[in-house]
Amino acid sequence: MNVKLATQVFSSSVSNALIFCESLGIFQNTNPTIEFCLFMNNAFDILNCSTKFSKSPYNLALSPNTYIKYKQFIELFEEYVFSLKLVDGLNVVNSPRKTGFVGIVWALKNWLNMYDLIKEKDYGLKYILSYKISQDHLETFFSTVRSKGGYNNNPSAKEFKTSYKKLLVHHHVSGSQYGNCLPESMLSKSYNIPDSIVNEKEEQLEIVPQNQDHDYFNVCIKASPYVENVTEYIAGFVARKVIRKINCEICKTFLIDNDNSNVLIQLKNRNDALYKPSKDVNFICCVSERWIRSSNLKEMYKKNVINKLYIKIKSEVYNSIFRSSILDEHVSNQNLFTNHRDQLITIIITTFITLRLRHIANQQQKETMGVRKKFTKLILFRNE
Ligand SMILES: [Zn+2]
Repeated sequence: MNVKLATQVFSSSVSNALIFCESLGIFQNTNPTIEFCLFMNNAFDILNCSTKFSKSPYNLALSPNTYIKYKQFIELFEEYVFSLKLVDGLNVVNSPRKTGFVGIVWALKNWLNMYDLIKEKDYGLKYILSYKISQDHLETFFSTVRSKGGYNNNPSAKEFKTSYKKLLVHHHVSGSQYGNCLPESMLSKSYNIPDSIVNEKEEQLEIVPQNQDHDYFNVCIKASPYVENVTEYIAGFVARKVIRKINCEICKTFLIDNDNSNVLIQLKNRNDALYKPSKDVNFICCVSERWIRSSNLKEMYKKNVINKLYIKIKSEVYNSIFRSSILDEHVSNQNLFTNHRDQLITIIITTFITLRLRHIANQQQKETMGVRKKFTKLILFRNE
């Protein structure tokens, strides 16, 4: 089983997304699912703690400070899991699919028992990190073994012996990024995303007939409340990126609005770490999103796609944003075409477009799945 995917599904992000969708009226009666996701999320967090300084409440190291809280949670969790029922009324823990449910309860209980035992022996340990004793390291090791010999996941005894010898000498273990478990160093890194989705080869080969008429579709496309909320959430991220980029303190104040009451931002805002975008930033992002959504996917692969979109968006938003007397005064003695207002709009638009195009490129890349990745247990080489 791919643990990575399971932990992504049973996460607080998913439960937040469900609350968000229910508030928009897209989903109904999500509470039991939310409860299940949160229980599983906390249980995974306790068993997958790799740092003493985590910000999420159940991802802290097991120490005298957290022991009682964890013990209470585990008792509650056990009660919850043992009360779960299938559609036909049969308890999950008595059904043929009980292994995972009983397993996680016992893993949690054993984790506490192990802590008690170690404390009794008095080794002077101040805290324990559960990630360090998980089987991830073993899985990562075998992932490395499989990666030898051209990602061969069914090695013969001889092949295994050779790769094992090789690993003994050269012991830097780095498994496949598609393996069940990721080594710790890979967790914080984001995957490599191509910088540009502009494919120059395609540009030369393909001759698309020019559209001479006006595109009326662009004008009337309207984003749903769901898309609007998500765009505002992304706008917060854009505001944060832009603030880090610029050095003018006056301009920075126009990017953030702490009174913003977006539902999604409030749900996702743990430890008050998120930036709340101002109306102007949000407006630019919404217009950009509309332009990107109304563009054809093929257009995204053309040359200068960022510039083309940028000109369209800027001409639409230019007259209706950053219209305050403070900013007018601030830019009054700056150059007409390179004043701070102009630069601010440019940075926001390009940041948002780049972000979205990278996302689109990433999605496209995922769609072209290799035959070996799809039939991982059937095919090792294409000619087999
Ligand atoms: Zn400025």
